[in-house]
Amino acid sequence: MTNKTFAIIGAGLAGLSCAVRLTELGHHVELFEKSRGAAGRMSTKRGEGWAADHGAQYFTARDPLFIEQVKKWLANQAVALWTPEIKVFEANQWTTFQSQDLRYVGTPAMNTPAKQLANGLLLHTSQTIDALSHKDSQWFLQSAEAGAIAQGFDALILAIPGPQALALAQHLDPDIKTIAGQSNMKGCWTLMARFQHKPTVSFEAAFVNQEIISWVARNSSKPQRTGQESWTIQANPLWSQEFIELSKEDVADQLLACAKKLGLDCTGAEISMHRWRYASGSTTATLGFYSNPALHLGMCGDWLNGGRVEGAWLSGYHLANQFAE
Ligand SMILES: Cc1cc2nc3c(=O)[nH]c(=O)nc-3n(C[C@H](O)[C@H](O)[C@H](O)COP(=O)(O)OP(=O)(O)OC[C@H]3O[C@@H](n4cnc5c(N)ncnc54)[C@H](O)[C@@H]3O)c2cc1C
Repeated sequence: MTNKTFAIIGAGLAGLSCAVRLTELGHHVELFEKSRGAAGRMSTKRGEGWAADHGAQYFTARDPLFIEQVKKWLANQAVALWTPEIKVFEANQWTTFQSQDLRYVGTPAMNTPAKQLANGLLLHTSQTIDALSHKDSQWFLQSAEAGAIAQGFDALILAIPGPQALALAQHLDPDIKTIAGQSNMKGCWTLMARFQHKPTVSFEAAFVNQEIISWVARNSSKPQRTGQESWTIQANPLWSQEFIELSKEDVADQLLACAKKLGLDCTGAEISMHRWRYASGSTTATLGFYSNPALHLGMCGDWLNGGRVEGAWLSGYHLANQFAE
């Protein structure tokens, strides 16, 4: 395929890496994103005088292709290494976490790498695509905000979580119904706490096992963070999924009680909550991406490639190359 027009739904890391690669290969690409900006689950919540990474907390890079991308981000100061003091809490015991992994974070916020990828791309924000159709070899989109989009596209890529791809496109291709139907994604309740002073605890980040909290991190320990002292607390996936419909207040009460048990007393802190409906999880068979050459239809995303930031970027990149072939 050369000189084709592509519509990509979703401007998370998978959709963005796919768009960048397709553009490099000479195609015309337009991204449709329901939020106000790019980044998806690699995003940053902002308030007056504070910001917190409330989705992905850091990422690692193992694949040579992704390592090259990370080097570009490092050169552009979009990411930096994060070297927190990490502890593990399990069975009421604290231990120090030992690992050789290099942990990267976006700078000055987690969404910066995504924003750099989006630079120069045609990105339509605040466009929730809610219907798709295929007519005379062209794909047509409809958005909740703008109605039917007049322009047709030669190819369509769904770069959205599996359950959302299932809802939007299962009627178009039986394989999408099967594959997206297996995307066993779980939610994540996230609590962000702002303090007047740095709390006295012996860690900057912690993996927590066998509690309703699974991760705690001091945002303010990440490079180039300014503003109020801020911490992010994430509930474990199974608990989050079970209680995903609970009110924010009830969830906050339970997470704050657990945080106190961990030694992070949030009394007096300002609290915000975020409910991620589709935070983590992937298909059991790691497909990497999905493409239907007959329909010029594809899917990419972390959930097709083992979850996580690196998997998302690689999924989009490889799908773009597959279309080129
Ligand atoms: C709480 C949490 C913690 C995490 N921690 C880590 C971590 O520490 N390390 C790590 O590597 N990974 C982590 N992850 C996972 C990581 O964030 C993801 O793997 C990665 O960001 C997924 O990218 P993606 O492009 O596949 O999907 P997404 O980022 O979900 O992008 C999909 C995009 O599609 C948009 N969209 C959905 N439906 C529509 C529609 N109908 N129309 C238009 N747009 C639509 C969404 O708004 C979104 O922007 C975490 C995720 C969460 C939620």
